[in-house]
Amino acid sequence: MIDQRNEILALLNSGSSFLVVSHENPDGDCIGATLALTLALQGMGKRAVAFNDDFVPHYLRWLAGADELVHTADPAAFDVVCVLDCGAPDRIGKLTERVLAHPRVIDIDHHGANEGFGLANYVAPTASSTSELLHGVLKFLGAELTPGIATCLYLGIYTDTNMFKNANSTPEAYQACGELVAAGAESMTVAKRVYIETTAERLQLMARVLSTLQIDDDGRIAGMVCTQRDLHEFNAKPEDLETFVEHPRAIIGVRAAYLLRELEDGVTVKGSLRSNDDIDVAEVAATLGGGGHVRAAGFRAKGTIAEVRALLVEKLRRAVADQ
Ligand code: 5GP
Ligand code: MN
Repeated sequence: MIDQRNEILALLNSGSSFLVVSHENPDGDCIGATLALTLALQGMGKRAVAFNDDFVPHYLRWLAGADELVHTADPAAFDVVCVLDCGAPDRIGKLTERVLAHPRVIDIDHHGANEGFGLANYVAPTASSTSELLHGVLKFLGAELTPGIATCLYLGIYTDTNMFKNANSTPEAYQACGELVAAGAESMTVAKRVYIETTAERLQLMARVLSTLQIDDDGRIAGMVCTQRDLHEFNAKPEDLETFVEHPRAIIGVRAAYLLRELEDGVTVKGSLRSNDDIDVAEVAATLGGGGHVRAAGFRAKGTIAEVRALLVEKLRRAVADQ
């Protein structure tokens, strides 16, 4: 736990222009926190710009401020750079070097591996999400929590706890969501847009990916894979794979689950790892150049899907045996 909230508040109050960034391949917590902080700073009469290396996934594009998020920016042109939900600065993507060169970086995050790369850091690994931490910061700051901001923060907590199904569903997470719904967060819209609605293409892609289910280690390891051809065949995007890894994870007896996706270059594989108990998949991901949380982690590795699958299953097998 690194708690430099006072320094963060001082920077937020004294700066007049802010660049708000988060990690590539963005998820709900990342986009929710990015937009919430950007809107809150704008509400305080400051200049604030939201940046992400990648596009906002379609299931999040309806959020307030999502249309204004940019994909190119010069960090040096802002008084302060706010980095949200990044366990390590390289998760920012192409702006990493220029953000690290900035003298005033605020780092708010809930990844255990975060060493506090900012001038002011608030890192709480036991928190459900970066959105929950940001909610606390915005309350301290006295920022007005409009329904639009409340919806972004609620969505961040709701998605990072996977609808309160994950072990990070703490009393603080429930409490924050209660306060946010009271402030006007559109909880029903979040449930509908993020978890209920789907497309025919996504369901067809799911059928294909489910057919790749492979069980190893006497039922303790389960995983699936997705090729670029699969994505093209169903006219799907990588974001359509969000939460697919929960299916192998849900199998009774499974202790570690994975989803592997071939990237566009054809020689790199993106891996998503999940565990059901104390198997530390962040440790396994770190041996492949990635990171994350104990029960949810990810990595990118060179090789074909078959090669990476064989290597990963072996690593998971050892992690299970060491437990
Ligand atoms: P997901 O499987 O949903 O992509 O990611 C799960 C968790 O692992 C997230 O908390 C995310 O921050 C982390 N993660 C995913 N991919 C990477 C990666 O390539 N590098 C690192 N360091 N962390 C990752
Ligand atoms: Mn997060």
